[in-house]
Amino acid sequence: MLRCVICSLAFLAVPAFSRADEPAPGFVIRGATIHDGTGKAPFVGDVHIQADKIVAVGKIGDVKNARTIDGKGLVLCPGFIDLHTHCDTGGPSITSATGKPNKNYIMQGCTTVVTGNCGSGPVDAAAYFKKLEAGGIGSNVIHLAPHNSIRAQVMGNANRIPTAEEQQKMEALMDAAMKAGAWGMATGLIYNPGTYAKTEEIVGLAKVVGKHDGMYASHIRNESSGLLAAIEEALAIGKGGNCRVHISHIKASGSSNFGMSNRAVALIENARKSGTIITADQYPYIASSTSLRATLVPSKYREGNQADFVQRLDDPTIGPKMKADIAQALDGRAGGKKIQIARYSKNPKWQGKTISAIAEAEKKEPIDIVLEIERAGGAGIVNFGMSEEDVRVYMKQTWVATASDGSIHTPGDTVPHPRSYGTFPRKIGKYAIDDGIITLEHAIYTSTGLPASILKLKDRGTIKPGHYADVVLFDAKTFRDTATYDKPHQYPTGIRWVFVNGSPVVADGKHDAKVLAGRALKHESK
Ligand SMILES: [Zn+2]
Repeated sequence: MLRCVICSLAFLAVPAFSRADEPAPGFVIRGATIHDGTGKAPFVGDVHIQADKIVAVGKIGDVKNARTIDGKGLVLCPGFIDLHTHCDTGGPSITSATGKPNKNYIMQGCTTVVTGNCGSGPVDAAAYFKKLEAGGIGSNVIHLAPHNSIRAQVMGNANRIPTAEEQQKMEALMDAAMKAGAWGMATGLIYNPGTYAKTEEIVGLAKVVGKHDGMYASHIRNESSGLLAAIEEALAIGKGGNCRVHISHIKASGSSNFGMSNRAVALIENARKSGTIITADQYPYIASSTSLRATLVPSKYREGNQADFVQRLDDPTIGPKMKADIAQALDGRAGGKKIQIARYSKNPKWQGKTISAIAEAEKKEPIDIVLEIERAGGAGIVNFGMSEEDVRVYMKQTWVATASDGSIHTPGDTVPHPRSYGTFPRKIGKYAIDDGIITLEHAIYTSTGLPASILKLKDRGTIKPGHYADVVLFDAKTFRDTATYDKPHQYPTGIRWVFVNGSPVVADGKHDAKVLAGRALKHESK
């Protein structure tokens, strides 16, 4: 097949293609305000999408038989890249029939999601990629090798350092994942069993990742009073493993730590000035979301399985101490006023209510509600633990990318964190367009070009001829999040077109669940 290198407008000056072996003429979007994802000022222009690529950008002449989309008054930008999702684990997984269209991400304009985060997800990356490819997926998927899941596979939920043989086994699993196309590793050092890992163990694994030029992404060991020390640990792991460091969902949690974002930023800026590659991501909300247990129960009580947990609670020696520690943690969250139940299948009526409101209605103490839930296996929660000012401080940094920390959801009776539906339109619509906290260029750059460069993803994240056509068109006047803490299952407004690898999965505002044009994107291991 004779075709010129697709890189210039001259390509389009030749007469329109008609030969059968030429690709279909594709789409020409005309007169859009193009934010190319680099953070530069926007310009008005046209974009030609053919097959799975962007083939031209600028002033484009007539392209015979191409479908024209009127982009006047709309913003055109690269599809958003979400560095931190749980699309592989929480809710319906991206490999399930319900989850694979990934509608709540696509409707935000998000065309690539990163999985394996907080150290949880598929250990066998090759098998995972095969599954993704076989079932078809709505968005692209990038995977990080998950430390917690790897450790669980080798050592179970044990609170001890690994033997030399176990360490070797974990490193072999890490190496296999990197060879199969994982982009790095992720840890979740407040979760089991990764919370039992010492720095040394993680450095050993990071060395494997560094060898393949992968990244080290971490839900760090402490996001409240120990924030700075936890960032230092991540830096030490990056240095020991010779790989770049990425702090997941950066925050300063707990009212006594409000304002600590400035010190965290200074620490990271200093490291960056000395040549260390360290970046972060953030969701634009003051509430976080995780399990009730990870929030309130110290890790020393979480070894083993649920039966071990309940036995510890009932133990005449350990039990009272454990309850006191949980009660103290609850006190630190305003006695349960700041904790809202997201998911609790044993009693769905409690979903959407705070622990303190439930306690009042049940005429019980908040601690008793917590213990009842934990005896029944635990619950997912939303925790209002951050300050708006800290959220804004992080958001303004050029090295903080947008990421949801959410998962795939379909409308139902659970009350999950709204971030799974609203992260990107909220940062762009509320924080940039409405409130002017950041510029629109910055909001788009930190959702496209920045995450691509953090991953070292070369052919996505900017609007450029030769890049894959992950492209979004939205109406700046109406592109807003509508998901709230009370009613989270709501898609954003204002999204007009979403192309994934050149296929329109949202066309003129309408999502098509049958368009499964996403791909498992594989890192080229060294
Ligand atoms: Zn996390």
